[in-house]
Formats: sequence, structure tokens, C-alpha cells
Amino acid sequence: MQNIPYATQEINQADIQAVIEVLQADYLTQGKKVPEFEQAVSKVCRAEFAVAVNSGTSALHIACLALGVGPGDYVWTSPNSFVASSNCALYCGANIDFVDIDPRTYNLSVEELAKKLAIAQQKNCLPKVVIPVHFAGLPCDMQKIHTLANQYGFKIIEDASHALGASYAGKPVGCGCYADISVFSFHPVKIITTGEGGMALTNDADLAERMRLYRSHGITRDQEKMTQPAPGSWYYQQQLLGFNYRMTDIQAALGISQLSRLPEFISKRRAIAQRYMQALSELPLQLPMTEERSQSAWHLFVVQLVTHQLSKTRQQVFTELRTQGIGVNVHYQPIHLQPYYQHLGFSAGDFPVAEAYYNGALSLPMFTKLSEAQQAQVIASVREVVQ
Ligand SMILES: *Cc1c(COP(=O)(O)O)cnc(C)c1O
Repeated sequence: MQNIPYATQEINQADIQAVIEVLQADYLTQGKKVPEFEQAVSKVCRAEFAVAVNSGTSALHIACLALGVGPGDYVWTSPNSFVASSNCALYCGANIDFVDIDPRTYNLSVEELAKKLAIAQQKNCLPKVVIPVHFAGLPCDMQKIHTLANQYGFKIIEDASHALGASYAGKPVGCGCYADISVFSFHPVKIITTGEGGMALTNDADLAERMRLYRSHGITRDQEKMTQPAPGSWYYQQQLLGFNYRMTDIQAALGISQLSRLPEFISKRRAIAQRYMQALSELPLQLPMTEERSQSAWHLFVVQLVTHQLSKTRQQVFTELRTQGIGVNVHYQPIHLQPYYQHLGFSAGDFPVAEAYYNGALSLPMFTKLSEAQQAQVIASVREVVQ
């Protein structure tokens, strides 16, 4: 039997054709495809501005920079995420801290956030930016986080790397109703792919402008933004220390083509999730939470082993499933337990809910190309191993 991965991209002939067309055209980068992709994503997400970059990580970095995150500032995020969600603050020389998660949604807990903010206010160390992560594609409780942002004066970058195509309170994630900047990743395991790639969305023209500068060396060719009249049309100005985080037109063309299938991708993922939900409901597993007010993008399908009802450890379950060719995975090792973060002063026990969650977490294969037969094989193996 063939191994089933936990995630993989779905590329069709139209995607391939779109990439070939760029390869045969004049511009491999800095052509028209990148702005076209930006407009397409901002339309789908109903945000005004979009800045495409070479990874979700770069998008998080320029988002922090555009919001002025720097030395002495505090940035808070969820410990149950990929390290990029917190590394972006460290790139800016800021301090990072975490807010423990909700044991049902596995997202940053709003109650914990409120408590931590009250304490931070007394100690005069409120965060400049909070980065909620829509874990597995399920939107965080953004209305409440937004209310706290107004109360305590912090900015919000939503890490929506898992959540392109998700909706919250009737609006698409990325619309900017409850976040200053929304960040997406187009890594091949994510909802749509450009190979590597990412995007930052905002409704704030100044933030968009600053993110564009940071994306490309801090250089502008816009006469109106310059400190002196341009002596000629060759002239450009570097106005801040930026990077080369540009996306290529090759990637953007793939992204445009992929994006046209977003509704299809989401409905396939939802159907897979529904089948898992039904088939696994009788087992000693905590299944993912679903909510009235939001639609998950179903980037991941995470089950939690109810360990006191099981005679096996997570390690045993993981190994037995991998041996049967089922590409289970674990999302995420709590960021604060990484050696690099331990050197910053974090310890085991700091975020107990995220740690307990991690000890029982198991991601089952979830990707649009997963066939019903393959999914049946996953379900049969999970039943056999955990029953
Ligand atoms: C994938 C991911 C990122 C980083 O995206 P890249 O495009 O791989 O740089 C950031 N945050 C989360 C939650 C992710 O899953």
C-alpha cells in the first residue's frame, strides 16, 4: 500500500500552463503577475491592499516592521504555532511572550489574554502587537480580541497562514475587520500554493506602503515620496532598511491559477473533515471544534488522544500509524519549549494548556487530493490502532 502524506499540493494542467506562460514571457519577476495576484487575493478576502512576498514568514516580518515593532517592544502570540509566528518579533529586536491556548479550539485563549493584559498594564509592559493564529484554519475569537486591542491599545496581526478561505462572523478571514494586518502563507501544505510565498493584507494605505518598502530594500521610485526632485527617470531612493522579500511572477502566476480553485479546495477539505468527524466519533479522541460563527479552512485535521482512555501513548499511536503508511504528524510542539526559546528564559510549565494539548495531539492526513479510498484506509488504521 502507498504511503499517504499528511499534506500535499494539488497542481493541475491550468497551473502548469500558467507557469509556462510566464517562463515564455518577458518578466520572470517584477512584471504584472504579482500585482494581479495581489488584487485577486484582496478581492477574495475583501481587503483593500495586499503585498505579496516570498514567504509567510517574510509577510509576518514586514507586518511587524510596518507596525513599528522594535527593541523594547513586546509582541504576544500563541505557543501552539509554527516558530515563524514568534520569530518575526525577534527579527525586529522585540521581546516575545505567549498567551496560553483554549483547550477546545487550540487557539489563543481570550480569557488568558484578558488576564495577562490586566497584569501587563500594572507592570507597564503591555504588548505593542498581538499575533493571534487561526490554528488549523479555525478563526480565533477576533471580535473579543479586537475589543481588547481598543481597550489596551495594541495592534493585531492575524497569522492566517492556515485560514485562506475561512470565514468569521460572515466575512472572509483577511478582510481586516478585526486585524490591522492579515498574513497568509502559500507553502505547498497550505490552502493554495506558490511553492514558497506569502501575502500581507491591510485596509491601511500607510501600512501597505511601508510593507511595500520593506519588501524591496526600502527603495521607492515614487517621485511624490522622495526627499528631493528626481534628476532623471533612473533615480530611486532608499528610505529605510528593507529586504529583498519579493515574490516572482512565476510564483504569482501559479498563485492566481490556484486561487481560482479556492472554493473547490475548501469544499473538498470540508467534506474530508465531515467524513472524519462521523467515522471517528466513537473513539477515545477529542475531535476538532466547529463553531456557528465561523467556517474553518480545514488546513489541518487534529485529533487529541484521550490518553486516560487509551492503553497506548501518543508515541506508540504515532509510530503504529506511520508503520501502516499513514502520514500522521504533530502540530505543534509548543514554541516556548524549543531550545532557542528556552535560552530566552521560557520553561516547561509556562503554558500548561498548550503543553497538555501537545502531548495528545495528532494530525491526520488532510489535503484536497486525499481520495475516499485513501481516507477509508486512514480511518481503518486509526480505529485499529486506538481502539
Ligand atoms: C506555514 C506557517 C507560517 C510560515 O509560512 P512560510 O510561508 O512557510 O514562511 C507561519 N505561521 C504559520 C501558523 C504557518 O503555518
